[in-house]
Amino acid sequence: MQTLRVTRTELTSIERFSRCGAIVCDLDGTLYLGDSLIPGAIDFLNRVRQSGRQLYYFTNNNSISRRAWAAKLAGLDFPAEERQLMTSADCADAYLKRHHLYPRIYLVGNSELQQEFASQGFVCLAEDEALRDEPKAVVLGFDTEIDYRKICTCYDLILRDVPYIATHPDVLCPVARDTFKPDVGSFISLFETATSGRRPVIVGKPTQEAVRFISDKAHLPVQQIAFIGDRLYTDVRMAVTSGMVSVLVLSGETSEEMVKASPDQPHIIVNSVAELVQYL
Ligand SMILES: [Mg+2]
Repeated sequence: MQTLRVTRTELTSIERFSRCGAIVCDLDGTLYLGDSLIPGAIDFLNRVRQSGRQLYYFTNNNSISRRAWAAKLAGLDFPAEERQLMTSADCADAYLKRHHLYPRIYLVGNSELQQEFASQGFVCLAEDEALRDEPKAVVLGFDTEIDYRKICTCYDLILRDVPYIATHPDVLCPVARDTFKPDVGSFISLFETATSGRRPVIVGKPTQEAVRFISDKAHLPVQQIAFIGDRLYTDVRMAVTSGMVSVLVLSGETSEEMVKASPDQPHIIVNSVAELVQYL
């Protein structure tokens, strides 16, 4: 008697999500919005932890340090330690060291970011030093203390063909619902205009550099990692192009209409992370 055998060659997206060994969450728009927690976010995070999966937080926003981020998340009652936090500055650190663009750099970044790079062995040159002693790289971070002197120094170094790296491409950073401020992507455009088209190497979400950083940190292949976020051109694009499981939450800046019109199509769409608890 012949036995009927069904071979399943393809897992559904939900099955793939359920089998992931690491879950990486974007922050703003995904777990909170401005100062407001997304309802169910803490239950979701605790459930991830209880399930034994690795839990990480990834943000492109490097205007505050990893330590400050960890303190902020702990203050929101998230299960968060500093080792669980990844930022686009970490990706820049890894990229610069791998390409021997180290240790002397010119960094456009807040004082907290300058300290963060210094703690990783970089020497962040002042403007006059950077123009006098060719740095190994010019790094454009999210600098909410930027001034005209920094802009001119960065511009001069780009024109001199110093390797030019930007931490992330986000044009706007969310402040509260429907309120934004200019982010690194806007400054990339400024320098692109001023230098007749020079573009940086970008290392944060959605680039393969960020994928490599996440995969190395989790010690897992990308297929076993789920990335949850609210932004199509960073969170979703990175996950889909790399082979991670992409989960889009509609709790942030993206509406269903925007998804329909986008080339970036997630594997799973939910209203918020609260809906994912049932699959853990
Ligand atoms: Mg977000």
